[in-house]
Amino acid sequence: MSLQLPQSVTVVEQGPRDGFQNEKEVIPTEEKVRIIDALSDTGLKAMQVTSFVHPKWVPQLGDAEEVLKRMKRAEGIKYSALVLNEKGLQRAIESEIGTIDVGVSASETHSRKNVNMTVQEGLDRILGVIEAGKEAGLSVRAGVMCSFGCVFEGNVPMENVLRIASSFLSAGAEGIGLADTTGMGNPADVYELFSRLIDIADGVPVSAHFHNTRGSGLANVLAAMQAGCNVFDGAIGGLGGCPFAPGATGNVATADLVNMFHEMGIETGIDLEKLVECARMVESILGKELPGQVLRAGPVKH
Ligand code: ZN
Repeated sequence: MSLQLPQSVTVVEQGPRDGFQNEKEVIPTEEKVRIIDALSDTGLKAMQVTSFVHPKWVPQLGDAEEVLKRMKRAEGIKYSALVLNEKGLQRAIESEIGTIDVGVSASETHSRKNVNMTVQEGLDRILGVIEAGKEAGLSVRAGVMCSFGCVFEGNVPMENVLRIASSFLSAGAEGIGLADTTGMGNPADVYELFSRLIDIADGVPVSAHFHNTRGSGLANVLAAMQAGCNVFDGAIGGLGGCPFAPGATGNVATADLVNMFHEMGIETGIDLEKLVECARMVESILGKELPGQVLRAGPVKH
């Protein structure tokens, strides 16, 4: 008897967006570019590099255009940016990024704090962005934030999450992601929700975005993978959080993810040593220790 495992998975690096946006001190554009370029050399196939949100809300990512202009765009890597409205979409089109990630929060309170709209208003707006993005020839992935709970409201009903996801599917999203923005998910709920999502997704790839806020990140990854998910977000060194969800620290560290996959015999195409080097570089640029555990202990040696 053994676990049912995929032969390979895709790891999506989110540090330059989800990670950086949570850093209080503005990171100079050239340092961001240095980090992104180093990450492009690790064998990653997908990376979210910035966000086209209003600089007033997220000043850290106010240099989105500049980052996209200066970073190298390596062959074979899908670079994406987060977009939350029409204005952001226009900026994404002008920056010639091929893929955008859009998102809606499943929690009313988080939605109001994040985009100043109700869930339904946010969803209506994003459905318009998906449509317009596709018309402009972009590849669009759509995510549901706070899929496993909200720090303000507690439980988030699975039905609400699935209703948003099926609207995304009807609008033609090419990928659906569930995000545990506040790190409240547990493997049992993760398994159930991903199983139900994959059921309705009808072959559209689904992805998982876990925060390690309460230490359940990798356990949730395994549960999602058992349900059939094989795209996983991580952030370099375990950077991250959400400026609009108090206490929501730390994405799953990309190296921790990759180390676990490789140890289980699952391919990622990523050079783990190079990834750890990148995390060290980020630590030195930010001048602080990051929570990634493989970064501390080193990859497993055989
Ligand atoms: Zn996140």
